[in-house]
This record gives sequence, C-alpha cells and structure tokens, in this order.
Amino acid sequence: MEHPENSEEYKGLTVNKGIEQPSIVNPYLKLRKKPRRREFSVGEYVEGIVKGDVTVLSQAVTLVESVKPEHQAIAQEVIEKCLPYSGNSMRIGISGVPGAGKSTSIDVFGLHVLEKGGKLAVLAIDPSSERSKGSILGDKTRMEKLSVHPKSFIRPSPSAGSLGGVARKTRETIILCEAAGFDKIFVETVGVGQSETAVHFFLLIQLAGTGDELQGIKRGIMEMADGIVINKADGSNIEKAKLAASHFRNALHLFPAPDSGWSPKVMTYSGFYGIGIKEIWDMIYEYFAFVKANGYFEYRRNEQAKYWMYESINEHLRDSFYNNEKIISMLAAKEEEVLNGKLTSFVAAKKLLDAYFSTLK
Ligand code: GDP
Repeated sequence: MEHPENSEEYKGLTVNKGIEQPSIVNPYLKLRKKPRRREFSVGEYVEGIVKGDVTVLSQAVTLVESVKPEHQAIAQEVIEKCLPYSGNSMRIGISGVPGAGKSTSIDVFGLHVLEKGGKLAVLAIDPSSERSKGSILGDKTRMEKLSVHPKSFIRPSPSAGSLGGVARKTRETIILCEAAGFDKIFVETVGVGQSETAVHFFLLIQLAGTGDELQGIKRGIMEMADGIVINKADGSNIEKAKLAASHFRNALHLFPAPDSGWSPKVMTYSGFYGIGIKEIWDMIYEYFAFVKANGYFEYRRNEQAKYWMYESINEHLRDSFYNNEKIISMLAAKEEEVLNGKLTSFVAAKKLLDAYFSTLK
C-alpha cells in the first residue's frame, strides 16, 4: 500500500498523492563534463619526475597512496623506473609528540639546510590526522616559510592504513622525491614505525618538564634516536631545558651502544627563536661524515633494502591468503570455532593454511 496512513484507522488524516517534483537542476544548462585530471603514462610520469616537475611528482605520490590495484600497478612501475635516479639524499626522520614543535622546527631547519643550496622535500604529518589535547590542529598553517619557498616541496604523508603500509608508502614517496632531485628529505612522524626503515638519521624532539622525559625513555623511540633535541629552550625555560638534556644524556647511557658506533647527542634549542639551529645541523652533518667513513651508511642502506624485500614478500603472501576465495569462505567460521573453544588457535590456523595451500596445487 502506498500510503498506509490513508486507511480507515487514521480518520481525519489524508495524504494526497504528491506531484512529481521538478528537477533542481536547470534542464537547459548544458552539462559540462567535470574536467578530469589527465592521466599520464608511466613514461610521462618518470620523465616529469626526473625533470623535477612537482605537479607530476604530486600526482605520482597520489598513485603511491592509492589503494586501487590499477593505480598501484602504475605506481610500482614508476617507482621501479625512478629507482636508478634515487638514493642520493640526506633523509632525516623528525619525531616528537604533538606540540613538541615539529612544524615550527622543520620550518627553521628547512630554511637552514636550504641555505647551502639543493632542494628539500618534507613528508609532513597530515595536520587533519593529528589531534592534540582535544583540539584539531588542522586549520593551523604549518611551516609557513617553507611552504612558500621555491626549493621546497611539502607533502602530507600518508597516515591511513597499517603501519607497515604507511612505512612502505613513505619509502616509495622518498624514492620519487629523490628522483625529482630533492637531496634533503625530512620525514615528520609522531611515533615509531613509519620512518626508521627509510631514513638515515632519526631526530627526536623533546620538551623539558612535561613528563616527556619519562615518556621518551620508553624503549623503542629513544633507542632509535641519533640525536635528541630539547625544544623551547628560551626565556625562563632555558634552565629546565638544560636539566632535561642532562637527564636524557644519563638515560642514553642505559641503552646499548648503537650499531652505528655513533653516540647519540643531546642538545637544547629554540625553534621559535631560532637559537641553536646551526649547532644541531653541524651535529647532523657530522653524523653523516661519521657513518660514511665507518661504512655504517652503506651497511644500513643494504639492511633497509633487504628488509623491504622481505616485507614486500610478506605483504604479497598476506594479501594472497586473505583474498583467496576459499579462505574468505572459511575464515569467519574458524574464528567462531576458536572463540567457542571448539578449536585451538593453532589448529584453526593450520586448517586454514592447509586449505590455502591446497588451492595452490
Ligand atoms: P608540533 O605539533 O610538534 O608540530 O608543534 P608546533 O610546531 O605546532 O608547536 C606547538 C606550539 O609550540 C606552537 O604554539 C609553537 O608556537 C610553540 N613552539 C614551537 N617551538 C617553540 C620554541 O622554540 N619556543 C617556544 N617558546 N614555543 C615554541
């Protein structure tokens, strides 16, 4: 029944059949096709990137980030063709909690390194994805000076998806940026996992007197740092920052010496007032000279290449397993059986794997 409310039970209430509404779109208006972004061929992508065309570079990074298989296929070909042009940059990972001053610092660090010439790419945290103490930092202009610098390219780095996926996209974006002639690359992160498989130097920004000293001592992040810099060492905060620096120096002694043979340095600075910036960069350049001289730079590069080979195998195996029709049809039931205690996790896994392998024969 079209209008049940017209039945006898609803006395006094009549709903008339409506009239057809005119379209809200003016029928005389010629529909203009949405201008579609021209799609490049693999060759055009590579040529544009190698020429340093940032529009083409941006579009290629969008493909790298895309989850569509057809985009991924092109992206992988472009990356492969860009590989011979890559590998010639200083890649710096920059991390710190929200509010530590990452964007303020990257702005001044960036201008500092660009004084020596060259080009800088910043894979920045997507501000819309970062929340700090309940407020969204999305509307804030980050890296004001760098964003208008002709030799810089700022790209919000992919933050959606699994950590492994994000790390891979970060690495692939770095390859494209290098092929486009960016010889300095900053990768901004809020936590562990995204950049250390791709960068050469890991800089951890900390603050004094916020309890972050303790947070930072969490295994993992401090162990990875090649340099710890205490920001906001200005005004009445200078003494506190120095004290924090000595705490960090002491804490670093508790960790085993890093493979690089480099002892991580702890320094204080003020990103906002531009104090201590040169000293930090002198330290970073010193690190590069040190690890290039002792062979660690090369060693680490090889380790990272190896890591990515295995990571890529793992990813493909996982995808192949979870996208397998037979597995898709069995998975939910097996999970149920494990939850009901009918199967142990290991037996369930074995049954699923056996089923998967049987489809490959
Ligand atoms: P992010 O969230 O890590 O990117 O941090 P921001 O760069 O946005 O900085 C967070 C806040 O700290 C902002 O209000 C900055 O102005 C302030 N800030 C950053 N660096 C300094 C500094 O060196 N000294 C002082 N006093 N404030 C700073």
